[in-house]
Amino acid sequence: MHRCYCPDLPDTGIIALPPEEAHHAGSVLRLQVGDGLVLFDGAGREAQARVYSASKKTIEVEIESVAEVNRESRRKLTIAIALPKGDRQKWLIEKCVELGVAQILPLDVERSVAKAEKQVVERLERQVIEASKQCRRNTLMKILDPMKWSEFLKRIASGDSELINNDCLKLIAHPGGISVQDALAKVGEDGDVIVAIGPEGGFTEEECASAVDSGFEQLSLGARILRIETAAISLAAQICN
Ligand code: SAH
Repeated sequence: MHRCYCPDLPDTGIIALPPEEAHHAGSVLRLQVGDGLVLFDGAGREAQARVYSASKKTIEVEIESVAEVNRESRRKLTIAIALPKGDRQKWLIEKCVELGVAQILPLDVERSVAKAEKQVVERLERQVIEASKQCRRNTLMKILDPMKWSEFLKRIASGDSELINNDCLKLIAHPGGISVQDALAKVGEDGDVIVAIGPEGGFTEEECASAVDSGFEQLSLGARILRIETAAISLAAQICN
């Protein structure tokens, strides 16, 4: 069943699909009057709906039922990450959405190559929507505003509720630390986790030490060095449930 993203989802009635979604549903999928589809609002709700009218530019749908359908991981995982470049960025976002990561925070660290600007964040948000359609997730993975490393640690220290809660497990992926399994043994089944992943050049020793001073546990991902996005996916697969 085709899924459309409709951020403003009423409980009943007839609504016009947002223009981008209408274009896809009309010109690409060629949905006809009477065809069924699913709408999701990105905040946890999905609706069964049917095409009510279809013209070149506008598609109206009638909402039949709306429900909260939760497909989130019990653990809230935030990945703070020095973004890779180009296509690998898109791939990272897509897989993190599928695996159930709650939030991505683009990090600006000493050896970062890809600067995370507003434009980049907007493009990533589009990827989040596309991936959510495919994997049936009803809550959008958040892309937080990019942050410098020092600012990141400051926010953590101040207990910024957007990033951590009281019992949140704080991890930094840097060769030589404890295993993911040992780290997870320190939190309950639904304990939140925040993990920092460095750039291709790795975190500097100073960056790693400052994180450890701020209560982060150094985490090893095994004997081989993974690319940024592989590290993120490996962690998401092991942490999200
Ligand atoms: N050039 C660096 C590796 C960078 S890999 C070096 O040789 O050490 C990019 C990021 O992925 C790292 O900063 C780290 O956060 C994570 N990472 C990759 N492989 C890892 C491993 N085996 N253990 C822990 N973290 C790893």
